[in-house]
Amino acid sequence: MQNKRPFTNLSKIEEIAAEIPTPFHLYDEAGIRDRCRRLKKAFSWNPNFHEYFAVKATPNPHVLKIMQEEGMGVDCASYTELVLADKVGFSGHDIMFSSNVTPAADFKKAAELGAIINFDDITHIDFFKEHVGEFPETVCIRYNPGGTFEVANGIMDNPGDAKYGMTPEQTRQAFQKLADYGVKNIGIHSFLVSGSTSNEYYPKLARTLFELAVELKDQTDLNITFINLSGGVGVAYKPEETPADIDIIGDGVRQAYEDIMEPAGLGDVAIFTELGRWMLAENGGLVAKVLHEKITYKDYIGLDASASDLLRPAMYGAYHHISVLGKEDETADQTYDVTGGLCENNDKFAIDRQLPKTNIGDYIWIHDAGAHGASMGYQYNAKLRSAEVMLKEDGTFKQIRRPETPEDYFATMDFNF
Ligand SMILES: *Cc1c(COP(=O)(O)O)cnc(C)c1O
Repeated sequence: MQNKRPFTNLSKIEEIAAEIPTPFHLYDEAGIRDRCRRLKKAFSWNPNFHEYFAVKATPNPHVLKIMQEEGMGVDCASYTELVLADKVGFSGHDIMFSSNVTPAADFKKAAELGAIINFDDITHIDFFKEHVGEFPETVCIRYNPGGTFEVANGIMDNPGDAKYGMTPEQTRQAFQKLADYGVKNIGIHSFLVSGSTSNEYYPKLARTLFELAVELKDQTDLNITFINLSGGVGVAYKPEETPADIDIIGDGVRQAYEDIMEPAGLGDVAIFTELGRWMLAENGGLVAKVLHEKITYKDYIGLDASASDLLRPAMYGAYHHISVLGKEDETADQTYDVTGGLCENNDKFAIDRQLPKTNIGDYIWIHDAGAHGASMGYQYNAKLRSAEVMLKEDGTFKQIRRPETPEDYFATMDFNF
């Protein structure tokens, strides 16, 4: 088993915790920039390649600013995510709007910002016409091939059960409708598997979308200008998992492009991605302190963090690796359940986890919490959202979102009886 190590150490955490009380999410600026550069390099064969970072993964302005500095766009799915993107300074075609069950106000906001609007359903096209009016020149449609999605070693997922996207027939109709409504350029988007560490996912998805593009090209007046592979590339949450290799993935997409797109005269079509998890998950850790140890039928380590800081284990039974800071090299010869304090028995970061002997006051590092971590935070039991902190490239740190206070929690309540 490989050992997963935090991107920082106990002395740095003690320094930060002296100013910002635990729990907090810590992000790694150097690591985020490195991911941006590796992604761009892996797809550099495609001259107009563009990543739209999925805002929902880590909706913090300072994270988005780094994305912008590295030349990335953003992918939004709601009105408020659009406002956030606007506040950070994204506009026009640097914003992809990939929503579903979309309210009219959201479409209006996306149009106002000049975003590329990705239509999830055929009926949304007339809905847009009715509520917004004029169509932008360039839009996107979300495709769902149905059935199962398979690669060499088996079924990866069941698109036929997913609520997203249009059937092949609806996709054809959508192209026609959009052309009738004055659209000139179109992209095709699909998101079929989530959190895949397989190097085959993107290339297989690309082949599916490239073949569709070739087929539709001759049946439409629209120019197919981009293929949007969306998110879905995962990270190795478990130490024994093999991580995705972005260079192999980029090369696999290139091969599919050369096989299918270039011979069909589609060699100038851009490749877009909307990665969230792959960009940020490993560049964030949740730092918590051990408040209590409780021994009943099991041995419980109780933290000052809870599922309200990181929902994935409670929601999906997701594995997050745990390190006891300062004890990274000690033998993991104890078995613990690591829990938060919500009045919910599923508020457990780990069940029957092997860890070194852990004491009250130890700092705990919950790995790979940088994407879909703080962003899934909620206030059940009136537990407040924690701070977010950036570990900067020069080794210093900065609080990039303050922790909530009880006043924040009460702000929307009415006490005038
Ligand atoms: C969630 C989502 C993403 C990002 O997915 P990751 O698994 O974080 O890469 C991208 N696009 C859309 C439309 C999404 O819903």
